[in-house]
Amino acid sequence: MTELQKKTHKHETKIVATLGPSSDSPEKIAELMQAGTNVFRLNFSHGTAEGHIQTAQIIRECAKVQQRYVAILADLQGPKIRIADLPDGAVNLTVGDAIAIEVNKDFISTDNTVIGCDFITLPQQVKIDDILLLDDGFIQLKVDTIEGTRVHCSILVGGKLKSKKGINKRGGGLSAPSLTSKDLNDIKSAAKAGVDFMAVSFVSCAEDIHQARKHANDAGFNPAIIAKIERAELANDLDLLDDVIRASDGVMVARGDLAVEIGDAALVGMQKHIIIRARELERFVITATQMMESMINQPSPTRAEVMDVANAVLDGTDAVMLSAETAAGSYPVEAVCAVANICNGTETQNFIPRRRIVDIQLNTVEEAIATYAIATANNLPGVKCLVALTESGNTPLLMSRYNTSIPIYAFSKNLSTLQRTAMYRWVHPVATGSDHLSNDPDEAIQILKQKGLVHKGDKIVITSGDIANKTGGTNNMRIAVVS
Ligand code: PEP
Repeated sequence: MTELQKKTHKHETKIVATLGPSSDSPEKIAELMQAGTNVFRLNFSHGTAEGHIQTAQIIRECAKVQQRYVAILADLQGPKIRIADLPDGAVNLTVGDAIAIEVNKDFISTDNTVIGCDFITLPQQVKIDDILLLDDGFIQLKVDTIEGTRVHCSILVGGKLKSKKGINKRGGGLSAPSLTSKDLNDIKSAAKAGVDFMAVSFVSCAEDIHQARKHANDAGFNPAIIAKIERAELANDLDLLDDVIRASDGVMVARGDLAVEIGDAALVGMQKHIIIRARELERFVITATQMMESMINQPSPTRAEVMDVANAVLDGTDAVMLSAETAAGSYPVEAVCAVANICNGTETQNFIPRRRIVDIQLNTVEEAIATYAIATANNLPGVKCLVALTESGNTPLLMSRYNTSIPIYAFSKNLSTLQRTAMYRWVHPVATGSDHLSNDPDEAIQILKQKGLVHKGDKIVITSGDIANKTGGTNNMRIAVVS
């Protein structure tokens, strides 16, 4: 193990790193993996399908060399509404001036008084006094009048506006179907790339997730589906949000678009709500966007960024995500190292609240075993780790919905299970290499001993199923003492 690995591989909160021009070479991927990246994000808003498939191959090869289980996440672009090309790529907008948005697709902008947009129903979806937020809210327009294919606005916040920047409406409500024709093609490419997770952008209801899952299954694969929570409609209707969380395998607090739609002040509470609900509903959760933003150009983070990552860790997030910091920044590896160190430092504090377990409603045998395995590990002196002998990875997921400071080893012979569990906080994938191990605790103890992870006298809480190779069959808990 290198010095870098020794320093940074202690974090229990997982790190998602987005790949891009700064980081998609084999050398950089190897360095990001060594620095502690657990999940690599392929952002289908950029790059080509062939490029993403090739990058996925590099990640898999690199993981083999480093003997690591890491996951790949394909993030679909979704119906991001964007302005069209501008003359010379950008225009300057001055506060108080008038500007119009034209949705006729043949329109070509020639100056800063009218700009194009290909979202043809925009005039029907806005009303007078609505605030339109361009470029993540850096430019703000107020709607004055609507005339045919043109929305006339006045400029509230001006500046330089570049071609193809996004448009959102404050409070949400610009609705376009969640899966675009580009997304449907990208799902086929994600299948070819063999990704573990697929994130759906601008989800507005549970049906969006069902559709994404169906299209993935039609393309011949079965990734875990992540709902990106970034629409005000979900933030304003917590039952609808619950439906979306239940339909998904995990969620992402997509703070970029979410903050634009609901405002910065509401974002703080919403991040905490989404993390709490995801964990209660037994789903994993990623906290994303601008976590280490200044590290795009600087080798170390600001104090505020340190506190932001730490806050997400204290909230109970499974993973924190880096976007431009690793995709397009000058210090991608330093950014992962910084996040790993902050996560590790925060996890050792005693501020992380634990869910109370006594009297909790249990719905399945698997959930009962997972819950009381964690309760035992957390409260019985001398327990060194938990071991889940698992087919699908569900038992370690259930265990990791409770806060613990004790590592959970997910033992499986299934490569896809090992890769998927790389996302879950406190869970460490371990390959069994044996077809018969799924219900053989003694072999698991031997493997942990060989790896130096347990020693004579340590207690281990082990869960397994009576029948090996059966998904959902966990029905045993045993406390073993290493001899
Ligand atoms: C976000 O909006 O915060 C996000 C993660 O999505 P994207 O990077 O696709 O904008």
